[in-house]
Amino acid sequence: MTLERFHRIGTPASWGEAERAQWRAGKMRRRSYADDVLEAIARLHAHWDAQAYGELDYAPDFYPLVALHSADWDHTRPIALVTGGVHGYETSGVHGALQFAAAHGSTYEGRINLLVVPCVSPWGYEHVQRWNPVAVDPNRSFGEHSKALESIALMRLLAPLRDRVLVHVDLHETTDTDESEFRPALAARDGKPFEPGAFPTASTWWTTARTRSRRSSRR
Ligand SMILES: [Zn+2]
Repeated sequence: MTLERFHRIGTPASWGEAERAQWRAGKMRRRSYADDVLEAIARLHAHWDAQAYGELDYAPDFYPLVALHSADWDHTRPIALVTGGVHGYETSGVHGALQFAAAHGSTYEGRINLLVVPCVSPWGYEHVQRWNPVAVDPNRSFGEHSKALESIALMRLLAPLRDRVLVHVDLHETTDTDESEFRPALAARDGKPFEPGAFPTASTWWTTARTRSRRSSRR
Protein backbone atom coordinates (compact mmCIF):
# COMPACT_ATOMS: atom_id res chain seq x y z
CA MET A 1 0.00 0.00 0.00
CA THR A 2 1.26 3.45 -0.84
CA LEU A 3 0.57 6.05 1.80
CA GLU A 4 0.11 9.65 0.81
CA ARG A 5 2.97 11.64 2.20
CA PHE A 6 0.87 14.76 2.53
CA HIS A 7 -2.80 15.41 3.28
CA ARG A 8 -5.04 16.35 0.36
CA ILE A 9 -5.30 19.92 1.67
CA GLY A 10 -2.28 22.18 1.44
CA THR A 11 1.29 21.81 0.33
CA PRO A 12 4.39 20.79 2.25
CA ALA A 13 4.11 23.96 4.33
CA SER A 14 1.97 24.80 7.32
CA TRP A 15 -1.61 25.93 6.80
CA GLY A 16 -2.65 29.56 6.51
CA GLU A 17 -6.15 31.02 6.67
CA ALA A 18 -7.10 29.71 3.23
CA GLU A 19 -6.18 26.11 4.07
CA ARG A 20 -7.98 26.32 7.43
CA ALA A 21 -11.10 27.64 5.68
CA GLN A 22 -10.84 24.88 3.08
CA TRP A 23 -10.53 22.29 5.83
CA ARG A 24 -13.57 23.72 7.67
CA ALA A 25 -15.67 23.85 4.50
CA GLY A 26 -15.33 20.09 4.14
CA LYS A 27 -16.78 19.35 7.57
CA MET A 28 -20.48 18.60 7.88
CA ARG A 29 -22.64 18.94 10.97
CA ARG A 30 -23.48 15.36 11.90
CA ARG A 31 -25.21 15.58 15.27
CA SER A 32 -26.83 18.12 17.57
CA TYR A 33 -25.21 19.64 20.66
CA ALA A 34 -28.61 21.13 21.58
CA ASP A 35 -30.37 17.77 21.41
CA ASP A 36 -27.63 15.57 22.87
CA VAL A 37 -26.04 17.83 25.46
CA LEU A 38 -28.22 20.82 26.31
CA GLU A 39 -31.40 18.74 26.54
CA ALA A 40 -29.61 16.19 28.72
CA ILE A 41 -28.40 18.99 30.99
CA ALA A 42 -31.95 20.36 31.26
CA ARG A 43 -33.11 16.98 32.60
CA LEU A 44 -30.55 17.07 35.44
CA HIS A 45 -32.04 19.87 37.50
CA ALA A 46 -32.79 17.72 40.56
CA HIS A 47 -29.19 17.55 41.77
CA TRP A 48 -27.41 20.08 39.60
CA ASP A 49 -27.33 23.78 38.88
CA ALA A 50 -26.49 24.63 35.29
CA GLN A 51 -24.20 27.60 34.73
CA ALA A 52 -23.61 29.31 31.40
CA TYR A 53 -19.91 30.13 31.26
CA GLY A 54 -19.56 31.53 27.76
CA GLU A 55 -20.70 31.40 24.16
CA LEU A 56 -19.09 30.40 20.92
CA ASP A 57 -20.22 32.32 17.86
CA TYR A 58 -19.06 30.35 14.85
CA ALA A 59 -21.62 31.71 12.42
CA PRO A 60 -23.90 30.20 11.36
CA ASP A 61 -23.31 27.96 14.39
CA PHE A 62 -23.79 29.32 17.91
CA TYR A 63 -23.11 27.43 21.11
CA PRO A 64 -23.89 28.35 24.73
CA LEU A 65 -21.27 26.77 26.99
CA VAL A 66 -22.74 25.13 30.08
CA ALA A 67 -21.25 23.65 33.24
CA LEU A 68 -23.00 21.70 35.99
CA HIS A 69 -22.47 22.46 39.67
CA SER A 70 -23.62 20.29 42.55
CA ALA A 71 -26.91 21.72 43.79
CA ASP A 72 -25.57 21.71 47.37
CA TRP A 73 -22.42 23.64 46.41
CA ASP A 74 -20.62 24.80 49.54
CA HIS A 75 -17.78 27.28 49.22
CA THR A 76 -15.93 25.69 52.13
CA ARG A 77 -15.62 22.29 50.41
CA PRO A 78 -13.01 21.19 47.86
CA ILE A 79 -14.00 20.60 44.23
CA ALA A 80 -13.83 17.56 41.95
CA LEU A 81 -13.83 18.53 38.27
CA VAL A 82 -14.97 16.28 35.40
CA THR A 83 -14.49 17.43 31.79
CA GLY A 84 -15.60 15.76 28.56
CA GLY A 85 -15.47 16.73 24.91
CA VAL A 86 -12.27 18.76 25.05
CA HIS A 87 -11.87 16.78 21.87
CA GLY A 88 -15.44 17.02 20.59
CA TYR A 89 -15.24 13.94 18.37
CA GLU A 90 -14.48 11.71 21.36
CA THR A 91 -18.11 10.82 21.96
CA SER A 92 -17.64 8.65 25.04
CA GLY A 93 -16.18 11.58 26.98
CA VAL A 94 -19.24 13.78 26.37
CA HIS A 95 -21.78 11.07 27.10
CA GLY A 96 -19.68 9.64 29.93
CA ALA A 97 -19.68 13.00 31.70
CA LEU A 98 -23.45 13.34 31.21
CA GLN A 99 -24.06 9.78 32.44
CA PHE A 100 -21.86 10.41 35.47
CA ALA A 101 -23.91 13.52 36.25
CA ALA A 102 -27.19 11.60 35.84
CA ALA A 103 -26.08 8.66 37.98
CA HIS A 104 -24.05 10.36 40.68
CA GLY A 105 -25.69 13.71 41.28
CA SER A 106 -26.39 12.81 44.89
CA THR A 107 -23.55 10.35 45.55
CA TYR A 108 -21.13 12.96 46.88
CA GLU A 109 -23.65 15.28 48.53
CA GLY A 110 -22.28 16.92 51.64
CA ARG A 111 -18.72 15.76 50.96
CA ILE A 112 -17.30 17.49 47.90
CA ASN A 113 -18.48 19.94 45.27
CA LEU A 114 -18.75 18.44 41.79
CA LEU A 115 -18.20 20.55 38.70
CA VAL A 116 -18.96 18.77 35.41
CA VAL A 117 -18.25 20.35 32.03
CA PRO A 118 -19.61 17.71 29.65
CA CYS A 119 -18.78 19.21 26.27
CA VAL A 120 -15.93 21.69 26.13
CA SER A 121 -15.82 21.80 22.32
CA PRO A 122 -19.39 21.72 20.92
CA TRP A 123 -18.47 22.52 17.31
CA GLY A 124 -16.09 19.55 17.43
CA TYR A 125 -18.87 17.41 18.90
CA GLU A 126 -21.37 18.33 16.17
CA HIS A 127 -18.90 17.96 13.32
CA VAL A 128 -17.10 14.95 14.86
CA GLN A 129 -13.77 16.75 14.84
CA ARG A 130 -10.77 16.85 17.12
CA TRP A 131 -10.07 20.51 16.34
CA ASN A 132 -12.25 23.59 16.64
CA PRO A 133 -13.44 25.30 13.41
CA VAL A 134 -10.17 27.18 12.94
CA ALA A 135 -8.21 23.90 13.05
CA VAL A 136 -6.87 24.45 16.57
CA ASP A 137 -6.70 21.61 19.10
CA PRO A 138 -8.34 22.86 22.33
CA ASN A 139 -6.42 20.30 24.36
CA ARG A 140 -3.13 21.85 23.25
CA SER A 141 -4.38 25.36 24.03
CA PHE A 142 -4.62 25.60 27.81
CA GLY A 143 -2.05 28.26 28.38
CA GLU A 144 -1.15 31.86 27.85
CA HIS A 145 -1.86 33.22 24.37
CA SER A 146 -4.39 30.45 23.72
CA LYS A 147 -5.94 30.48 20.25
CA ALA A 148 -8.87 28.23 21.21
CA LEU A 149 -11.96 30.06 22.47
CA GLU A 150 -13.14 26.78 24.02
CA SER A 151 -10.02 26.60 26.19
CA ILE A 152 -10.09 30.28 27.11
CA ALA A 153 -13.71 29.96 28.30
CA LEU A 154 -12.89 26.93 30.44
CA MET A 155 -9.82 28.59 31.94
CA ARG A 156 -11.94 31.62 32.87
CA LEU A 157 -14.52 29.38 34.50
CA LEU A 158 -11.87 27.65 36.57
CA ALA A 159 -9.64 30.62 37.42
CA PRO A 160 -11.45 31.58 40.64
CA LEU A 161 -11.83 27.91 41.67
CA ARG A 162 -8.47 26.37 40.85
CA ASP A 163 -7.03 26.53 44.37
CA ARG A 164 -9.91 24.37 45.60
CA VAL A 165 -9.90 21.75 42.81
CA LEU A 166 -8.70 18.57 44.49
CA VAL A 167 -8.99 16.23 41.50
CA HIS A 168 -9.70 16.61 37.78
CA VAL A 169 -10.88 13.72 35.59
CA ASP A 170 -10.60 14.56 31.88
CA LEU A 171 -12.35 12.08 29.58
CA HIS A 172 -10.80 11.15 26.23
CA GLU A 173 -11.08 8.44 23.60
CA THR A 174 -8.80 7.05 20.90
CA THR A 175 -10.75 6.49 17.70
CA ASP A 176 -10.03 4.71 14.42
CA THR A 177 -10.11 8.05 12.62
CA ASP A 178 -7.05 9.28 14.50
CA GLU A 179 -4.90 7.32 12.10
CA SER A 180 -7.00 7.73 8.94
CA GLU A 181 -7.94 11.39 9.25
CA PHE A 182 -6.73 13.43 12.17
CA ARG A 183 -3.03 12.60 12.30
CA PRO A 184 -2.64 13.11 8.52
CA ALA A 185 -4.46 16.44 8.84
CA LEU A 186 -2.22 17.43 11.76
CA ALA A 187 0.90 16.70 9.73
CA ALA A 188 -0.50 18.69 6.78
CA ARG A 189 -1.54 21.62 8.98
CA ASP A 190 1.93 21.86 10.47
CA GLY A 191 3.80 21.22 7.20
CA LYS A 192 5.29 17.93 8.34
CA PRO A 193 5.36 14.53 6.64
CA PHE A 194 2.83 12.03 7.93
CA GLU A 195 4.41 9.11 9.72
CA PRO A 196 1.91 6.23 10.12
CA GLY A 197 1.44 4.90 13.63
CA ALA A 198 -0.82 2.47 15.45
CA PHE A 199 -3.52 3.46 17.90
CA PRO A 200 -5.88 1.14 19.78
CA THR A 201 -9.54 2.08 20.04
CA ALA A 202 -10.02 2.92 23.70
CA SER A 203 -11.51 5.35 26.14
CA THR A 204 -9.00 7.23 28.24
CA TRP A 205 -9.23 9.37 31.28
CA TRP A 206 -6.62 11.59 32.77
CA THR A 207 -6.74 12.04 36.51
CA THR A 208 -4.92 15.04 37.86
CA ALA A 209 -4.72 15.29 41.61
CA ARG A 210 -2.73 17.82 43.56
CA THR A 211 0.35 15.66 43.53
CA ARG A 212 0.32 13.73 40.27
CA SER A 213 -1.17 13.21 36.82
CA ARG A 214 -2.12 9.71 35.72
CA ARG A 215 -3.49 8.20 32.50
CA SER A 216 -5.88 5.24 32.53
CA SER A 217 -7.44 3.43 29.58
CA ARG A 218 -10.12 0.88 28.87
CA ARG A 219 -10.57 -0.97 25.59
ZN1 LIG B 1 -8.77 13.47 23.33
